Amino acid sequence: MRLSNQLVLASLNRHKFEEFQALLTVYPEITLLPVEKFIRNPDGLQSVEKHSTYLENAVAKARLINQGCHYPALGDDSGLEVRALQGRPGVRSHRYAPPQPKKSQDQANVDLLLSEMKGTEDRSAAFTCTLALVIEGILIHATGTLEGKITDSPRGTHGFGYDPIFVPTGKTQTLAEMTEAEKNQISHRAQAIHSLMAQIKSHGLLFAKP
Ligand code: IMP
Repeated sequence: MRLSNQLVLASLNRHKFEEFQALLTVYPEITLLPVEKFIRNPDGLQSVEKHSTYLENAVAKARLINQGCHYPALGDDSGLEVRALQGRPGVRSHRYAPPQPKKSQDQANVDLLLSEMKGTEDRSAAFTCTLALVIEGILIHATGTLEGKITDSPRGTHGFGYDPIFVPTGKTQTLAEMTEAEKNQISHRAQAIHSLMAQIKSHGLLFAKP
């Protein structure tokens, strides 16, 4: 078996790449590579993200990139589930709102969610992240969740997506008011990556840098 300590992140989201890179600093044996280095047509990644579960989407992304470049590939799928909306936007979080000419997709999503939540008492929600690593035909996966509440209006400028309207349980700041390091201590993505790394190590699938 050809082992490698280089992983390609099967995502075109620059914010996610930066978060994963920061999260992986505690595993100095791993080098994370951006997918743009390997694929010319980014639409391929978006078109495989059509399944109804995070796991199927994460696996589809990882397989696509692994087949394309033969490096171990890390697929990620994540979303926000709001209890009062029966789990929406969920697996459709990225394209929740229809595209709007004068707004970023993130802004349109936040505006739509807040309008749907107007006057709703139950503000409970949770972020979920599922990771799938495809390495030499082996599949390993892990999931992390972060519970919290949806605010009445956006606060903060850090992060991405729904960060400005999500306050984690036990905190007073939204994720967008926290530093990257503060978010990375508690995030759904952090929990998923640490769980995945524990499995990778226990299977002996990566090796330390010389
Ligand atoms: P995907 O995993 O690329 O399908 O994107 C999931 C979508 O969920 C993102 O585009 C965001 O809208 C949202 N999302 C996932 N994780 C986070 C997060 O950490 N903060 C804010 N929004 C997130």
